[in-house]
Amino acid sequence: MSDGTNARAAGLQHLRRRGLDKGDPIPLPLTLASTFHLPGEPGDFHQYGRSENPTWEALEEMLAHLEDAPCVAFPSGMAAISSVLFGLLKAGDRILLPSDGYYTPRVLGDRFLSRFGVRFDLRPTASFLDGGFDGYRLVYVETPSNPGLDLCDIAAVASAAHAAGALVVADNTTMTPFGQRPLELGVDILVAADTKAPNGHSDVLFGHVASRDAEILKSIREWRKLSGSIPGPFEAWLLHRGLETLELRFERMCRSAETIAPRLKAHSAVRAVRYPGLPDDPSHNLAAAQMLRFGSLIGLTLDSADKAEAFIDGCALLQPATSFGSVHSSAERRARWGDAVAPGFVRLSLGCEPTEELWSAIEASLDALSRS
Ligand SMILES: *Cc1c(COP(=O)(O)O)cnc(C)c1O
Repeated sequence: MSDGTNARAAGLQHLRRRGLDKGDPIPLPLTLASTFHLPGEPGDFHQYGRSENPTWEALEEMLAHLEDAPCVAFPSGMAAISSVLFGLLKAGDRILLPSDGYYTPRVLGDRFLSRFGVRFDLRPTASFLDGGFDGYRLVYVETPSNPGLDLCDIAAVASAAHAAGALVVADNTTMTPFGQRPLELGVDILVAADTKAPNGHSDVLFGHVASRDAEILKSIREWRKLSGSIPGPFEAWLLHRGLETLELRFERMCRSAETIAPRLKAHSAVRAVRYPGLPDDPSHNLAAAQMLRFGSLIGLTLDSADKAEAFIDGCALLQPATSFGSVHSSAERRARWGDAVAPGFVRLSLGCEPTEELWSAIEASLDALSRS
């Protein structure tokens, strides 16, 4: 059975062809323009760079092809998330956020949304359905959660939250459109940080919002134009290029994670491993049912903060860095940011290095821990 991945990936490389005239460049031109030729009356054409730009539009067409839904591009993942929260909520609304997801939306809620009379509650991803959704205007899921890699049942949350009258938003950053399809599972709005695997080269911040609800997207577009939260054309151009290889890169990254996770689990220096692809992971059955791939992130716990730092620094093929999803593998000890994880918890992001070379380097660094 096909999940559409191959057709989507193949079609992506030929999207521009339809619109080309004889002599047009095959690659996407980069249009750097604040102003466009505008004599006489304004109309349905490019007029001003805060409202429209041909490079964004080509990128949004590519994102829409991947998501099977219209998309609006933003200069970062948080700009995309903010457009949903500030563009759709009003004073008196109550929203539900994951307590263990990416921390910035919680800080935004605390420091800014609250000033506008929007209240938020927190709930752990693994028990997100418990307690129901009565009274919420918007319910926000992130699955697998970053960094703990817990899951929640997207379809079950969407149907229960809709029954309670809430809008449902999914942050799909950890999975990309090739790993998980939240809109197909019933959510109203998808947000993602393309800063991670979609761009994949650690040189761009970017984000997008996708929705099949025309009214929602209209509000998001209006928010972007009026707030000025617009992406730079050059960043859009770079992401356009990155997306051309996303399927290829994500395939290698996920395959390496599938190969390496059980070996980590078997290593004597490793206390615990979280990876939805491991058959005994608490999330495995749900992951197998709702995800197309198990992702490229692995959580591993070592004995202490010092051991975790020594493992990362001692591995020749791991970049010590925050963020994830790049061509190079990277790792970081998440407790350094105050995440509610063990001091020796490392979030490992598998990159595009050949799998066995990568494992040899990881194993050598783990082996060295046991000797020190
Ligand atoms: C990185 C990340 C974001 C924010 O993206 P930025 O581009 O850094 O603003 C949002 N959600 C998740 C799950 C992320 O990992």
